[in-house]
Amino acid sequence: MKKIAIIGAGISGLFIANLFKENPNYHVTIYEKNSSIESDEGYGIQLSNNSIKLLNRIGFNTLDNKDKFNPEKIDFYELKQQKKICDLNISEFNSEDCKYTALKRSKLIKFLKDRLDINLLKYNHNISKIEKNNDQINLIFNENNKVICDHLIISDGVFSKGKSLISDNKIKPVFNNSIAIRGNISRNKLNELNEKNISLFMGHNFHYVIYPVNNNNEAFNFIGVLKYKLTANELENYSLFKDVTFFKGIKDNLQSKTSSTILDHLTNIKCFPIFVSKGFVKPGKNIFLIGDAFYAFPPSFAQGASQSIECGSELFDCITNNKNNFYDNRILKVKMINNRSKLNQFAFHLSNPVIVFLRNISLKILTKNKRFLENYLGRIYKN
Ligand SMILES: Cc1cc2nc3c(=O)[nH]c(=O)nc-3n(C[C@H](O)[C@H](O)[C@H](O)COP(=O)(O)OP(=O)(O)OC[C@H]3O[C@@H](n4cnc5c(N)ncnc54)[C@H](O)[C@@H]3O)c2cc1C
Repeated sequence: MKKIAIIGAGISGLFIANLFKENPNYHVTIYEKNSSIESDEGYGIQLSNNSIKLLNRIGFNTLDNKDKFNPEKIDFYELKQQKKICDLNISEFNSEDCKYTALKRSKLIKFLKDRLDINLLKYNHNISKIEKNNDQINLIFNENNKVICDHLIISDGVFSKGKSLISDNKIKPVFNNSIAIRGNISRNKLNELNEKNISLFMGHNFHYVIYPVNNNNEAFNFIGVLKYKLTANELENYSLFKDVTFFKGIKDNLQSKTSSTILDHLTNIKCFPIFVSKGFVKPGKNIFLIGDAFYAFPPSFAQGASQSIECGSELFDCITNNKNNFYDNRILKVKMINNRSKLNQFAFHLSNPVIVFLRNISLKILTKNKRFLENYLGRIYKN
């Protein structure tokens, strides 16, 4: 029986562990640095059809429908006037048992975790050394805890220590000149918004997205992305985002961009810098990177978690079928999504009135153009 070690119990690590646990030829263990799994209670996540199809293989379709929300459309608004521009029928890509879904992150994590034997998860394991020894891999956690495995899967997120260790610290994520603002907002504080849809508001260097996370009329998810420069010193200051004055500065910046009805009624607000990947690491035989550790995108295409799941499924197929083409397809897909994410963020943040006018006309046309949608979204959503 081959031993698989997974570093990091996020969406990507938990998903691939769920696939391996069904295969009697492998014994899988997840090593997580924290003492529990962080689930970001309250916040939402969008999953497109490509990942729902893969999640259904491990029973996601049995999750109670009241804990999920299936949007029909994405409504595009101009932020300043709160005026609707057009909509995109996202449910066109749905099939009977595979629908674009939004839910609470905590529900997804709980679903992935609860299906695993509790002994598969080792908490308080912070990776500190990775050494190759012929066909085996030696891992050291917390400086002195040694583990030997046949396959190593590194899924410890955007700031991956596993990736730093195998690349001699050469590849690091970069700040995306933007910060994310997360929160929740009650339905009754939102005017004239279609609650069957995802609502996307575009403004000057700022966009935000609001959507329900279930069918229980609980607070909606709010996620905003603000273009923002940080100095090198600020980036190194880990407590900056907890600093009251800094946070007030962000809020003041937002006041000029969005309606106070939204800002004043946001609860559970968290804000953090967005880091993205630059370049790939291909560690070679029996060591693999998945999820954000492999490549983290700007969040404007809402594909990070879906790609973490897709990437996990592809790696599982490669390992179990003894194939060695994991990186070929993955890099092509990552490049495609990265380009779309960057283009989305650029288009969502335009400010020149003439260009905004032209963007809005283009959006009205493109969101109804089947060929464009098949190419821009279909190639990502249909795997
Ligand atoms: C603002 C924002 C909004 C987003 N919205 C969406 C969305 O709507 N839809 C979507 O698909 N994606 C979205 N994403 C992206 C998505 O959240 C991520 O791509 C996804 O969570 C990555 O999962 P992961 O398992 O690779 O990494 P993570 O979730 O970061 O998990 C990594 C795990 O590794 C552990 N770990 C870290 N270091 C070590 C170590 N040294 N040793 C052991 N364990 C370690 C961590 O504690 C953690 O448990 C969004 C991202 C952002 C920033």
